Order: sequence, then structure tokens, then C-alpha cells
Amino acid sequence: MTTKLYWEDAHLTRFTARVTDAWLRGAHRIVELDQSAFYPTGGGQPSDTGSMNSARVMDVEITDDGRILHRLDSDISFAIGDEVSCEIDWDRRREMIQQHTGQHVLSQAFFRLFGAETKGFRITDRSTEIDLTLEAQPDEIDNAIARAEELANAVVFDNREIRVHNVTPEGAAALPLRKESFVADCVRVIEIADFDWSPCGGTHAKRTGEVGLIAVRSWERAKKMTRVHFLCGARALNDYRRVSRTADAIARKFSSGMDEVESSVTRLFEENKRLQRRARELAQIAAIVEAHELIEGAEPAEGLRIISRVFEDRDIEELNLLAHRLVDGENVVALLAMKENLTARLVFARSANLSADMSALMRAACERLGGRGGGKPDFAHGGGTNVSELDQVLEMSRATVSAGQPRS
Ligand SMILES: [Zn+2]
Repeated sequence: MTTKLYWEDAHLTRFTARVTDAWLRGAHRIVELDQSAFYPTGGGQPSDTGSMNSARVMDVEITDDGRILHRLDSDISFAIGDEVSCEIDWDRRREMIQQHTGQHVLSQAFFRLFGAETKGFRITDRSTEIDLTLEAQPDEIDNAIARAEELANAVVFDNREIRVHNVTPEGAAALPLRKESFVADCVRVIEIADFDWSPCGGTHAKRTGEVGLIAVRSWERAKKMTRVHFLCGARALNDYRRVSRTADAIARKFSSGMDEVESSVTRLFEENKRLQRRARELAQIAAIVEAHELIEGAEPAEGLRIISRVFEDRDIEELNLLAHRLVDGENVVALLAMKENLTARLVFARSANLSADMSALMRAACERLGGRGGGKPDFAHGGGTNVSELDQVLEMSRATVSAGQPRS
């Protein structure tokens, strides 16, 4: 078994050790040492990284029988008994100490205030999560989280001492432990002065002030529990900077202070909704006027007016609207088209007093356009990719309609 230096001192970053075993796993050398300050992945916390002589330590794992395996980025060879110099990446270790110690504090805050137990814990690249037995309505959970966050940060600001106790299982049973203690020869208990006792094998701060800040970002229901996402220390600072930058950039766009941003955005949304409503009303009016002009400009043949046109810069909704207004009156056939990227889109419609089958007409048109279409006898949609054929297709459709479709 490797001696766990990270248990003796979580702030130790440089150490020497002797190689007790080494072998290749793929292109990576796996090294076992007689002692190690590298924290191996476990207990919801990712492993440390760092260096061993000239090699990078990419990750570290612990086996069921307590062997700590260091995976290197190279196949550099070691002999058993070699002395190696190791260094832990301190920035990463400190980040983990902050998240992990913050979790002890926050979990106890939820337990003390609401009796909510922590059933799961993990540090991810983005945040830290705890799964709590906290049942309540959403607004009550918001309120509970705010209160727990306040208590947790008060404990951080107190800068309380954090002590590590190695006790026997019997000794552990006499302590006011937050979590159920586990069976082991020796139980490692982390005490946060006058606040929390918790068995744990992780890396912790010396005092709560080292955690820096505990900031809850969000929560969700997961596995019938309340999952709380939070950030501590340097991560909380980075998040604060990011959020501030975003809020500041938005405030500048509104030429307002950060405190007025929310009401400015709300106003903008309401204004946007009102404008969209107004735009729809005006589009209706514009379609009526345009339909009227198109009908007036079309030469009637045997009482029938065929409006055939290809539009640029229209969307399909506008085309539909115009087609409907064109065929509101009697004896009109509308053969409308638009180009969208590399496809042509068609809308065919006819007045209710006519009997030409727009659906059949559309299918024939789309076949030539290399696409598909159909619809009802009086209103049909379609399209295709042979955009160069569009003018001929409309001409063909016009000819079919004027070739004596029976009219009532
Ligand atoms: Zn811990």
C-alpha cells in the first residue's frame, strides 16, 4: 500500500518517493510509489495532475486494495527502487480543496437548517453538485438555498479551523458525524470547528477562509432529490467576473445601470411583441392592397385572371397571405413562387367559384422542378431544386389553367 501523503498534508506539493512497481499500459507508463501526495480519483473528486521527474502525471487512480497508480503521458521507463521527484499542480489542487471543503460546509448548512442530507457529491469541470433530500415547492427551495448559502458563507467568513482526526470505528461512533460512518480499521474524520464532523478521505483546507466564497448557481430535481450546483473560491471568482462582464455589456447596450438591466430587457420584450403584432396587422393590409393591384393589372382572358409571378425577398408566410387575398374574390388563379437559397417554393391557389385542381397542377409543376408538392383542390404548396426551370414551370402551369379548365 502506498503511504497517502495527501492525508498527512493536503498542502504538500513537492515530494520524493521510491518506485515500487512500474509497467506499460498502452503508450503510458503506470507507476506505483512507496508514498504519494497525488490524490487519486474518488469520493466525487477528480485526481490531481502534476509531474514525476520529466514526465507528466495525467491521472491517478486507487485500486480496491489501496494501491495508487500514477498514469504518465509517456512510456519513460523506471526501475524498481528508483527515487523520483514529484510535484502536484497546485492551482488544480487548491481548486479541488476549495470545492471539496466548500461542500462539507454547504452540506452541513442544509442539514442544520432543514435536516436535508447529502446523498451524492461530485466535482465536474464546470461546477460541483450535491444531491440533497430536500423536498419543497420551487420557491421554498429557492428560499432554503439562499438561507443555506448565507450560513455556509458566514462559516467561511469566520475562518474556522479545520482539523483531521484519525479514530477507530468505536471512537467515530462517539462523534456527532453528519454522514453514516463506514466500517474500516481507521476512520478519518474532518472537523470544522463548532460546525461539522464528517468522515472523509479527501483533501481539505486548513481553515474555512481558504474556501473563499460559496456561490450556488442553480438547482434541479434529479433522482427524486434536489441537486444543487455551486462554485467555490477561484471558480466562484471566475464565474462572478464572467457574469459581471455579460451583465455590464448588456447594460451598456441599454445605456443603463446594471440594476436596471432586467426591467430594460422586459420592456424590450414587450415592445418587440407589440411590434410583431403590428407587423402582422400591416402585412394583412399590405397583402390586400398588393392583391388588388395585381388583379387590376392582370389581363382577363375569358373572364379568368391568372396572376403568375416569381418573388424575391419574401418568406413563405407572406406568399401564403398574398395568395389567400388574391383568391378572396371570384375568377382568380394565383401561381406564386419564390426562391429560397437553392430551392424554389410554390403556392398555387384559386377562387372558390373555380374548379381547376391546384393540387394536381402543383404535383405536375413539382415533378419538373425535381421536388414534391400537393395540397387541397383550391390551395397547394410545393417546391423543388431545379430553380432554372421555374419560369417555364409557371408558364406551363398558366397554360394548363387557361387551356379551358371548366369554370362555374
Ligand atoms: Zn472531505
